[in-house]
Amino acid sequence: MEASVGDILIVGAGIAGLTTSLGLHRLGIRSLVLESSDTLRETGFAFTTWNNAWKALDVLGIGDSLRQPHQQLQGMVVTSTISRQPPSERSLKSEGKLSEREIRCVRRKLLLEALVRELPIGTIRFSSKVVSVEESGYFKLVHLADGSILKTKDEFRRIEMGLNKFAKERRWRSFQLISTAYVVGFIHESKGKIMTFLRDKILPAFLTGVLIKRADFDCGELSILNATASV
Ligand SMILES: Cc1cc2nc3c(=O)[nH]c(=O)nc-3n(C[C@H](O)[C@H](O)[C@H](O)COP(=O)(O)OP(=O)(O)OC[C@H]3O[C@@H](n4cnc5c(N)ncnc54)[C@H](O)[C@@H]3O)c2cc1C
Repeated sequence: MEASVGDILIVGAGIAGLTTSLGLHRLGIRSLVLESSDTLRETGFAFTTWNNAWKALDVLGIGDSLRQPHQQLQGMVVTSTISRQPPSERSLKSEGKLSEREIRCVRRKLLLEALVRELPIGTIRFSSKVVSVEESGYFKLVHLADGSILKTKDEFRRIEMGLNKFAKERRWRSFQLISTAYVVGFIHESKGKIMTFLRDKILPAFLTGVLIKRADFDCGELSILNATASV
């Protein structure tokens, strides 16, 4: 059983898959999203979304509908559940070069629903688990768990080329994010006396500052197919 579908198949109706599909839809490109579950999955409750996320949501055209039910966060409190140290507080108001800092805690369910609402009917195909992808000349054959096969063009190289420049320019950012996550995780997990002392008495304010600095990074713009989308 083989069916020819459009140029673009997206595997997974999570935040990444639905956002990609909506981004393409805004550019006038149709895609089909294959989701293994029989309904939208919501793992976790909410996301803390910062400026870059709001830029992306605005480009997708769902920023304002999501702002309404989610209040802007004004500050952050870091506390240790082990020591009895007073919590360290930090304002999230804009400062320095940043004109405005927008941080909200967005409910995952509302985000997924907002993405789906804007997609044309029939974009998501539920109960469609991809089990393998097979090369077939210029095409790819996508095998689903129910035995059906979907045929799509092999656009991988074009997409790879489009993303390469963007990724290259942001290599240092990736290094910073990964090394920060590693060091913070190491400090959180450490049980030694010195680390425990540093973690509970000295580092909370510093770590909050690092988080805010990393989140204030401006992700810039990504150009695809002569159209420009902020990510
Ligand atoms: C409890 C929890 C809390 C979190 N909180 C945050 C947070 O506050 N902030 C943050 O940035 N991140 C958070 N994360 C991480 C966040 O969940 C992920 O970054 C985000 O969901 C990734 O989105 P995604 O679309 O890539 O993947 P997913 O949301 O995992 O979506 C993937 C989709 O693909 C489907 N799928 C998988 N395999 C197949 C297949 N073979 N065929 C068809 N469909 C398939 C799955 O069913 C799923 O629906 C949290 C994660 C968890 C578990």
